[in-house]
Amino acid sequence: MITTDVKYKVSDLKSDVKPIWCPGCGDFGVLSAVFRAIIDLQLDPSHLAIISGIGCSGRFPAFVNAYGFHGIHGRALPLATGTKLANPELTVLVAGGDGDAFSIGAGHLPHAARRNIDLTYVVMDNSIYGLTKGQPSATSPSDVLVQSTVKHKGRRKGTVGLLNLAQTLEPVNPIAMAIGYNIGFVARAFSARPKELNEILKAAVLHRGFSLVQVISPCTTFFDTYDLWREIAEPLPEDHDPSDRLLAFERALETDRGYMGIFYRQERPSFEDQVAKLVSQPSDAFAPTAIAPLLDAFRR
Ligand code: SF4
Repeated sequence: MITTDVKYKVSDLKSDVKPIWCPGCGDFGVLSAVFRAIIDLQLDPSHLAIISGIGCSGRFPAFVNAYGFHGIHGRALPLATGTKLANPELTVLVAGGDGDAFSIGAGHLPHAARRNIDLTYVVMDNSIYGLTKGQPSATSPSDVLVQSTVKHKGRRKGTVGLLNLAQTLEPVNPIAMAIGYNIGFVARAFSARPKELNEILKAAVLHRGFSLVQVISPCTTFFDTYDLWREIAEPLPEDHDPSDRLLAFERALETDRGYMGIFYRQERPSFEDQVAKLVSQPSDAFAPTAIAPLLDAFRR
């Protein structure tokens, strides 16, 4: 993480591209909190890269005066991994939505967790596909009623399976999934609570290794969940111990309570640290003397 002595203002961090999100979209709150975090941590924008996939959240990099890459659907993590490995001095934020992170790109999560690359994944979870006009996503509740859900006998049926009208689809639990994958920093925040969101984002950036922040970021146009989350959002209990993985998992499973805060945190060497160590202390296995017999075998 590179910091700067120059004091930046929010106006310096805003790009010339104005956000085109719908009025009231939760993503505005996330953008403001990211600006605030950059300023509070005195991050140098010339050493900051924001990588995104597809979806309303995918527009994020365009609005920030920093390096950015708007990639393809679900592939933000591999792009961010390459960015970080090419230049480990960069602070790399990954901006995505529930579609990107928990559906089409979900297969990248366990591997980013295993590698523990120093990336901060900010997942703006609105439980809907907003950009494509409101289809249920992996985190939609099974009784979600939106214009694209199946109608049967005149009534909408939630995330009903197309082949079996009696079956609805259970939402994934992103926090439990992340803890299960052993992501080293797992937190949840709410876009309508900027102070807490800002604190969590800063802690996630400062965490050396892969971090995932699920930000509840309601979609005012297709699935407005502000009232629901205002009602159920509450901080994790004061006695919560984020180093206790089992406890974190138990709290993640309490889905009727909208716990906010850092569920799980575990410090371990990041991938870049391990690569740097390997390069600075070459082992015998990589020494020319060890490779020479192998090369000779192929020459014969
Ligand atoms: Fe936000 Fe929904 Fe509009 Fe997309 S469609 S910009 S998620 S309010």
